[in-house]
Amino acid sequence: MERIYAPWRIEWVERDENPIDGCPFCALPSYEDAREARIVARSDHNYVLLNNAPYNPGHVMVIPDEHLENYAALDDETLLDHARLKRAAIDATRRDLDPEGFNTGMNLGGDAAGGSVDHVHGHVVPRWNGDTNFMPVVGDAKVIVEGLERTYDHLHAAFAEDPDAVDTGDLEAGDPVRLSFE
Ligand SMILES: [Zn+2]
Repeated sequence: MERIYAPWRIEWVERDENPIDGCPFCALPSYEDAREARIVARSDHNYVLLNNAPYNPGHVMVIPDEHLENYAALDDETLLDHARLKRAAIDATRRDLDPEGFNTGMNLGGDAAGGSVDHVHGHVVPRWNGDTNFMPVVGDAKVIVEGLERTYDHLHAAFAEDPDAVDTGDLEAGDPVRLSFE
């Protein structure tokens, strides 16, 4: 049987400790502490969120601030900003984790495509030769959270080195790295 590779089927974004009402991708940017929200970087119209259920370490999502269900509804400015932030996410992950490859993709169209959140978002998943699904290997919620916090701190530092970073963001104060592509 041929195996279909689709890491973005794993989209658990809920927080056990503080369940989110409504759309999590609309709620998370309003958190005062970006580290708690796991928003590592942002640009004018989009932000980068660590996936709570990473397929691999460094699995992030690039998400427009505006709640839109259809990719076609993104205006040109947001679309270009989204593409540039995705490029910055790939660069930062490369600097931090030195993966051997990447998968990037989107689930559009709800259940049929395996999407669990109807707010448009693009996945960036670093890949290594011979990697397997990270979750069953780790399998312990506490270990996953510690791993995410470590990944957050490392990626935050890697984003701060981006040539488009206009504010490197105070990690302790809970500020994401700010990028501007103007
Ligand atoms: Zn939303």
